[in-house]
Amino acid sequence: AKSRLEDVRERLGKRGAELLGLQFADLFGAIKTVYVHRDEFDSALAGKTMFDGSSVPGFARVERSELLLLPDPETIRFEPAVPEERGVAYAYCDVLDADGEPAACCSRTILKRALREAEKLGYTLNVGIEGEFFLFETDDRGEPIHVVHDRAGYFDGGPSDRGERARLDIVAALRRQGFRLEAAHHEVAPGQHEIDFKYGDAMTAADRWMTFRQIVKQVAHRHGLHASFMPKPFAGQNGNAMHCNQSLQRRDGSNAFFDASRPDGLSETARRYIGGLLRHAQGMAAIANPIVNSYKRLLPGYEAPTHIAWSSSNRSALVRVPSSRGAGTRVELRTPDPAANPYLVLAVMLRAGLEGIASRIEPPAEVVGNIHDMSDTERRDARIGRYPRDLHEAVEAMMADPLVRETLGDAVCETYASAKRREADEYAAAVHGWEIERYLARY
Ligand code: GLN
Ligand code: MG
Ligand code: MG
Ligand code: MG
Repeated sequence: AKSRLEDVRERLGKRGAELLGLQFADLFGAIKTVYVHRDEFDSALAGKTMFDGSSVPGFARVERSELLLLPDPETIRFEPAVPEERGVAYAYCDVLDADGEPAACCSRTILKRALREAEKLGYTLNVGIEGEFFLFETDDRGEPIHVVHDRAGYFDGGPSDRGERARLDIVAALRRQGFRLEAAHHEVAPGQHEIDFKYGDAMTAADRWMTFRQIVKQVAHRHGLHASFMPKPFAGQNGNAMHCNQSLQRRDGSNAFFDASRPDGLSETARRYIGGLLRHAQGMAAIANPIVNSYKRLLPGYEAPTHIAWSSSNRSALVRVPSSRGAGTRVELRTPDPAANPYLVLAVMLRAGLEGIASRIEPPAEVVGNIHDMSDTERRDARIGRYPRDLHEAVEAMMADPLVRETLGDAVCETYASAKRREADEYAAAVHGWEIERYLARY
């Protein structure tokens, strides 16, 4: 029988691939690519491509400088997403240290570890991500400007949805890559769009999310637009989320979150999983909402969560349980935004949920009313805590959460925290336009 590797080599040849783009995520979720020529395919597929780890954000302090890339043959994409990519195939890679062992800074490895733990308990994690982004105009040099491409709103179509053409092209490009999508539409804010993925295994979901951000930007660029995943590009408008719909699947293929014998159809397992997500919400915040700007999205009035609660109806809750049952039973974590490293988000989220199951964490009662209309006392009685308000608070909560630290590994956690503290400090030290407007004349 032909090995998977031989099969990949043969397909690379048949498709006339001249280059193979080896891709991986830096610690903060940016996509990195090194292109190897056809002559090097054998050695690349064997995991012999070396790179300088000290030049990759988040890697330097965790690892020695020489690292290797091991492509995962399951992830190879042969189809060009845009015409310029003809002759280039891409693969996602695990990052190895110089001894060929999985490196501590490898995001895929961190997620794999969490998935293995779920497997031991008899579960696989399914994830369906909802991706939101804005389309911005560009100036005559092609640089993005802070002006959106249309004035349309939720579910509007052409001609008011001026991004429709670009979005349809994005969807077509994603389908050529084998993506399974559920829906695409104009979102609430002017210039804002959403593309929803059909659920699938967590590693594929994370890999595809990386590709998704890249393809959205490439196709938008061809339309003379700039696609931005910045969490909150405009005060006063909805921001960009990366909602993570998730469920655990048992070995027999059934959905462990569904229980037909219960009035709400939600299993004990699902409830405890929610309990775990809520318990670690604060500790996960620096991962799910990793930049200063992330916290400007998490304010009342924009369908984004601000408090730690769950609900089957309320969109301001941090965990929402959509109404579908049976195989479609799932919980939606609404905090993450598209600036996050998807591998790390899924890893901490899964570990939190699994701890909920193992420690039988019973979540507080679901919230039905508007959390923002409740008094502090009402919120305290309902065990509704506050989500971190800024990056500083989030980093301290992460460092205080042993489960999150263990999931990431101490070295990664320290590196991540110190980079994020620096970012938050820099922001705190800047004097903003708002302050000048408010204070300059008055004081
Ligand atoms: N974009 C919103 C957020 O920031 C959510 C709006 C929605 O998808 N319903 O979370
Ligand atoms: Mg949606
Ligand atoms: Mg949405
Ligand atoms: Mg959603």
